Amino acid sequence: MALPLISGRNRSRRRYCTPDADVGHRFYAKRRLPSATAPPPVTALLPVAALLSVAIGAACASRPAAAGDLRAEFARWEAEADVALGRKPSPPAAEKPKPPDPPPPGACQTCRDTGKYPCPNHQKQTAFWTEGQQPPACCGGLGWIACPRCPREKQQANADEWKGAVESRKALFQELGKFRELTGLKLQVSIAPRIAFVSDLSPQSCARSAQHCHELLLKFRNVFGCERFEFTEAEDTRFFIFQKHEGYLAFLDKAYKEMFPDADIDLCRKAMGFHHSKEPSMSIGDYSKMRTQNAMDHHVVHVYAHFLLARIGGFKKLPIWLEEGFAAWCETLQLRQPETYCFAYELKDVDIGANRRRFLQEGIKKNRLCQLPTLDRLTLDGYELMHYFMSWSLVEMLMRRDPAKFLTFVEVRKDTDDTEEALKKAFGYDWPKLYEVWKRYVLAGN
Ligand SMILES: [Zn+2]
Ligand SMILES: [Zn+2]
Ligand SMILES: [Zn+2]
Repeated sequence: MALPLISGRNRSRRRYCTPDADVGHRFYAKRRLPSATAPPPVTALLPVAALLSVAIGAACASRPAAAGDLRAEFARWEAEADVALGRKPSPPAAEKPKPPDPPPPGACQTCRDTGKYPCPNHQKQTAFWTEGQQPPACCGGLGWIACPRCPREKQQANADEWKGAVESRKALFQELGKFRELTGLKLQVSIAPRIAFVSDLSPQSCARSAQHCHELLLKFRNVFGCERFEFTEAEDTRFFIFQKHEGYLAFLDKAYKEMFPDADIDLCRKAMGFHHSKEPSMSIGDYSKMRTQNAMDHHVVHVYAHFLLARIGGFKKLPIWLEEGFAAWCETLQLRQPETYCFAYELKDVDIGANRRRFLQEGIKKNRLCQLPTLDRLTLDGYELMHYFMSWSLVEMLMRRDPAKFLTFVEVRKDTDDTEEALKKAFGYDWPKLYEVWKRYVLAGN
């Protein structure tokens, strides 16, 4: 696909927004990098690519040796942190990854009694179903088929559930198609197993962004072995993306205003997009401000990360560092580097394409970074580049330390509102220890 070029490079100054906390909106812009516009000059990306391939390689734990090394490093950093804080070293935690619980006795071994069997066609590629097309013959676009190995009467129940799910996808076409009438735009509804798109962009373009989200989920599932994520469903995960600015405005005026009478439409008009991580989760984006497929991919993956986080342990507010750090980390995992920046202020000169590692190492050495409890209390108003880099790095470290513990951390945090307590429960870190371990993590070149 031919992508339009953006003139100007590395321009990081952006216009837009103030927060609208009441309706839970979050607004974003994207950073501009050469890579966001055209196939980048290889040299420009090399340092970042080299750095990130190490980070992602370890994060994905695809090579057992690397994961083992990392475990040993964390054990050392944690012991050093205890010494630095004058504490008795805490006993090393049992670090063997816990195998998944065995299926209950009598359960179907093939599907672990879920009744669902992953569609063999759609483990690598997402099923994408556009209005007016026949649903994919393999799985009807659901990404799963009724388990063929369950006992007979259960098979029937699974098959009924499958039919019901396909029907509800068809109903979703009707439901979302109403935006066409409301806006008068030539919108098309397309559905992937986990996401629905309403857009006047080509279905191929939406499919590509959906594919990135699908791959991100497969990484979570296959690489991290986290089965505790409550994955999203297309029915409640909606992306509206409008090709032209006028289309975006038409949606705001004719549909969005009606749905959310209290929304600050003037603010929405200025943004590149915004979202609600509620049920249904909605993201509304202005492609004319993204301008490239690549930027749209980043936008969709970033927002999708917010939706995923919202689904761990229920829809409750989390500290900004956790939200934005997780989204930046997901973008990195799937697209090598983050390019989307949720923010809530005007004219801050933020270049998230700067060298994170160097920035944080300098910051630690010169004692210029903010305290972690301060970071934890920040609102988007005060959120700046330093906070962004700290958030991204902290979440990356916690994820690499132990993804299952990270999920526990998020669940507990949603129950208590006390971040330090949640950190202690999940990782055994209080703020000082988290800082000491993280400092070592960063200074070791991460
Ligand atoms: Zn399929
Ligand atoms: Zn089964
Ligand atoms: Zn964000």
